Amino acid sequence: MSFSTQFDPNEMAYWQDRSASYQSDDVKRAIFATGTDLARFSMLISPAAQGHLETMAQRAHQLTVQRFGKVMQLFIPMYLSNECSNNCTYCGFSVANKFPRRTLNADEIRAEGILLASKGFRHLLVLTGEAQRKVGTEYIANAVQILAPYFSSIGIEVQPMEEIDYHHLIGAGTDSLTVYQETYHPDSYSKYHLSGKKKEFGYRLDTPDRGGKAGFPKMNIGALLGLYDWRYEALSIASHLMYLNRHYWKSKLGISFPRITKVFQDFSPKYLISDAEVTQFILAFRLMFPDIGISLSTRERAEFRDHLLPLGITQMSAESMTSPGGYSGFDEEAQFETTDHRPLATIQSHLTAVGYEPVFKDWDATLR
Ligand code: SF4
Repeated sequence: MSFSTQFDPNEMAYWQDRSASYQSDDVKRAIFATGTDLARFSMLISPAAQGHLETMAQRAHQLTVQRFGKVMQLFIPMYLSNECSNNCTYCGFSVANKFPRRTLNADEIRAEGILLASKGFRHLLVLTGEAQRKVGTEYIANAVQILAPYFSSIGIEVQPMEEIDYHHLIGAGTDSLTVYQETYHPDSYSKYHLSGKKKEFGYRLDTPDRGGKAGFPKMNIGALLGLYDWRYEALSIASHLMYLNRHYWKSKLGISFPRITKVFQDFSPKYLISDAEVTQFILAFRLMFPDIGISLSTRERAEFRDHLLPLGITQMSAESMTSPGGYSGFDEEAQFETTDHRPLATIQSHLTAVGYEPVFKDWDATLR
């Protein structure tokens, strides 16, 4: 059993169409209901719900404070390599882009880790491009072992792997797995992923299954907003979460919602999603899944991140660099541009000023 055997794009398209038919009263009922099903979710993401964002925001805030308190977990990404064997039309690391590639060695990884730990970060997200030969399981396991003494939580966002590889990485000290499907729409997926292992839609879709079977304590999924209709993507992520909750209930689940906001190189997103729609997206997930983590990246603007804070966000990155060795001053190609460039201290001050406690550690290596 795996998610790809039961995921039905036609069912997602059905609920996407259905969402356009709801009225205000349907939305009001959905906001205060407690069921976890696609019918309710399609009401929360419907065009009619745009008129109820304030009520949704109040309920989302209430649920988040009940479950998580007024704390914000801060983490930082660390890119180990910009090597990649895939050709994704929207990404700076695509194999089609010709530039000198760099992969950090053990000393460089340690130096970056010490630097980030000295700033106070204790939760680290390790990233690479997807290049099994250059940055395979052994390379990543070795990097995690180098970094483990400095961090209480280490997550990976790397190429999808086999269950046996995940066992190895958990043994090395990894506790969370992040994998984005990019788009859950198979035709669009084929259009954006032109070559490499990533072309296999189903293999990527079943990555959280393999991670769940290996026993990752935390797993994060999501889609790259802008590649297809956001309501279809939201329904698909909701369906995926419902499935993962049923099968891997020991893993703490979370979502992230990176969005493409501007033209990158020659790529211009066809399905632009507005700030109001991103807000609705977050609120709908918080109302239907009160216990999931919701992560906010520095792709978004500082003022918009501040606006979203009380609406269901539980963790956010700060001072992010998206190139290997970026914190150590290496001038290497970045995967994408970030938008919120505020120093960590400024973000901490803002959190405190609006009544939130910035938290660097809510997980301990002994829990791995
Ligand atoms: S999105 Fe990932 S797999 Fe695709 S080109 Fe970029 S780094 Fe490689």
